Amino acid sequence: MTVNLTVKSIVQQIRAGSLTPTAVAEAYLQRTKTIAQKLNTHLHLDEAAALTEAKGSAQRIKEIGADRLPLAGVPILIKDNICVRGSKTTCGSKILENYVATYDATVIKRLRDAGAFVLGKLNMDEFAMGSSNENSAFGPVRNPWNLDYVPGGSSGGSAAAVAARLAPVALGSDTGGSIRQPASFCGIVGLKPTYGTVSRFGLVAFGSSLDQIGPLTCNVEDAAMVMDVLTGQDANDSTSVQHPHGGFAKALANDSEGLKGKTVGIPEEFFDSGLDPEVGACLERAIADVQKAGAKIKRVRLPNISYSVAAYYVIATAEASANLARFDGIRYGYRTKENGVSLKELYRKTRSEGFGQEVKQRIMLGTFVLSSGYYDAFYAKANKVRELISRDFAAAFDSGVDLLLTPTSPTPPFKLGEKLSDPLAMYLSDICTIGVNLAGLPGISVPCGRTKSGLPVGMQLIAPKFNEQTLLTGAHAYERATEWHKDQPAI
Ligand code: GLN
Repeated sequence: MTVNLTVKSIVQQIRAGSLTPTAVAEAYLQRTKTIAQKLNTHLHLDEAAALTEAKGSAQRIKEIGADRLPLAGVPILIKDNICVRGSKTTCGSKILENYVATYDATVIKRLRDAGAFVLGKLNMDEFAMGSSNENSAFGPVRNPWNLDYVPGGSSGGSAAAVAARLAPVALGSDTGGSIRQPASFCGIVGLKPTYGTVSRFGLVAFGSSLDQIGPLTCNVEDAAMVMDVLTGQDANDSTSVQHPHGGFAKALANDSEGLKGKTVGIPEEFFDSGLDPEVGACLERAIADVQKAGAKIKRVRLPNISYSVAAYYVIATAEASANLARFDGIRYGYRTKENGVSLKELYRKTRSEGFGQEVKQRIMLGTFVLSSGYYDAFYAKANKVRELISRDFAAAFDSGVDLLLTPTSPTPPFKLGEKLSDPLAMYLSDICTIGVNLAGLPGISVPCGRTKSGLPVGMQLIAPKFNEQTLLTGAHAYERATEWHKDQPAI
């Protein structure tokens, strides 16, 4: 069996009876064995557990019927900051190296209820902090298009695995760009939902007011199918909301308009001199294609967007410093081996030994911006900037724009090690995506070209809050008009 399958084709074949969840699992596991090591995508691959999961899916299909299960027989890979009961959930950190989750995240439950099953857990930047996947305590992930290049981060394992066809879909999390940026670096589709659309229960928190779980897939239709299942309010997450939603896949199938009559806004700020020329050329062509597909193009401005990275690194680190306080050597995971130390020393040593460099840096920065005397100057100020950025987006949409179009990342994938000594350059990798998290909007990255050396380039579409349908319809129309999503790395 070939594993070049989409979510849609798996469900169709399961329904037709020509495929079983076990056969799907075996085929992907076989391919994974030969490829995962080269890419370092997987943190936990337990074949027996995956096959048991597949059996669970088969059982569900038998009981309920494949026709009533929207993801019947679909294998899913999971970023290792999402809890799967009985399986290790390390967050790419030494401090959680041996932590076994005691419950399932809501997204896992929803996926299983829909007939899908968990195939394995994926590498990531430690606690989702990073843009290149070089911050994992378990080694960097490599880009399947060229092993010398980074896959992006922090969901680099998810993006590389889907691009290499080790599963038709993976879950990632996005705090400032971590689904969209790696999707763009690996030439696949990545969607960050509106804040509150997908439950965060069971997602290890980084920046709680920014984090969202979302799918990484090979095409837009598959993203819609998975979003149909992930979306919905959850009593276990007070920030999740009830909103009319779902039915995305059906709406895509019935949509005949696509981008016709839509107005697509191009925010000037993302097309300035900081944009890599090759990325710029891909985006210019994408804008022309969007226009050819029937959309009206309108230049817009987001005057405060240049402050987004600065505001984000105050807000995200502040929230992280509070969220990561729980990793103290007492309650979870790693504890220093040093005996007979005071409680305070035990905390200090555990955290010094357990956390990596980037995480420690951020905890210190976050603690500083929240400390008395600096709170107003940094944290409160950053929140005001956040509000201004949200208003900029709202004003752009109020001016008659249905979608905004930007690059996903200002540069193509870069070489492993290239930006490690320059944190600021690394932080700028997310300059096009971070504002979307600050404003709580939905955003999607779709492949829109390749560099001369063959590396993928992505374009980002952004919609108003809870307008995932417009986002998916627009992205789907672009995809139908172009061929970029069909390209695959030769790994
Ligand atoms: N690269 C950004 C950071 O390092 C965003 C990470 C994310 O979205 N999880 O914080």
